[in-house]
Amino acid sequence: ATMPPLLSAIANAGRHGVLVKSAVVMERLGQVDGVALDKTGTLTEGTPRVTDLRPLTGSGLTEDGLLALAAAAEHPSEHPLARAVVDAARTRGLALAAAEDFSSAPGIGVTATVDGRAVAVGAPARLLNGGADAVCARAAAIAAELESGGRTAVLVEADGVPVGVLGIADHLRPDAATTVAALTTLTGTAPVLLTGDNPRAAARLAAEVGITDVRAGLLPQDKVAAVQERERAGRKVLVVGDGVNDAPALAAAHTGVAMGRAGSDLALETADAVIVRDELATVPAVVALSRRARSFVV
Ligand code: ADP
Ligand code: MG
Repeated sequence: ATMPPLLSAIANAGRHGVLVKSAVVMERLGQVDGVALDKTGTLTEGTPRVTDLRPLTGSGLTEDGLLALAAAAEHPSEHPLARAVVDAARTRGLALAAAEDFSSAPGIGVTATVDGRAVAVGAPARLLNGGADAVCARAAAIAAELESGGRTAVLVEADGVPVGVLGIADHLRPDAATTVAALTTLTGTAPVLLTGDNPRAAARLAAEVGITDVRAGLLPQDKVAAVQERERAGRKVLVVGDGVNDAPALAAAHTGVAMGRAGSDLALETADAVIVRDELATVPAVVALSRRARSFVV
């Protein structure tokens, strides 16, 4: 017997390295006419490295001390930035203290008790929250300097006081720009970038891949709102993401696709399809596959 077109398209997508979870999803992929892309782990490779260690004067911390404190708090987290911090500490041979009372807030950062100190590691804009004293101002200035260089700046606080800033950098995926161009052609609209990262780093990366519509500093629910705004305007939006912070948007979208290799378990479970081979260019490929299969159905 010949296989129904949507089922052979699923098998074909599998050969391209994309796991499409059902025939319904295979069909929906070809209907999308709008795309929202996450930044970290989606347009970038998702294997960031720590590039800068900036303990604040007066914190009493060395570069290694700052890194060890941040890594101890980040150790339980599965976020790519957390892995970068822990890897950097391991590379320097630093011993990590145990973290107690660990808690993570998607799109913001983590908190934990380390050696009796309440440590917070995360987005400077969220943690500083407009704090106006000299230490906060100094931390904000360092973060802005790093972000202007395209880095993700991560603030480290101990007992509510900033003690240093880490700079973290990730590589753009080699197929990011061609994927943006292919999706623009296929869907007839330019993709939008939805990121929890800072506006400076987001704008820099968007320019490199040819995206002009950029929404930065978003919390998970803000990503959902941005998707819903487009769907209310009549768009069928394809969301591509990897993080716990992307899961609500992946669920809210007409079709959600997760990056498989570095993606969080929650994103993989929530998405309608998973990119297993870690190539972003397979996204436009499966949209095209769906269109071809649908031309047999309808
Ligand atoms: P994106 O949308 O680009 O994938 P996220 O929403 O995951 O980014 O994170 C947004 C921002 O929140 C990060 O740029 C970082 O500043 C902060 N953040 C989130 N989780 C962590 C963490 N575990 N450690 C440090 N910073 C974090
Ligand atoms: Mg991400």
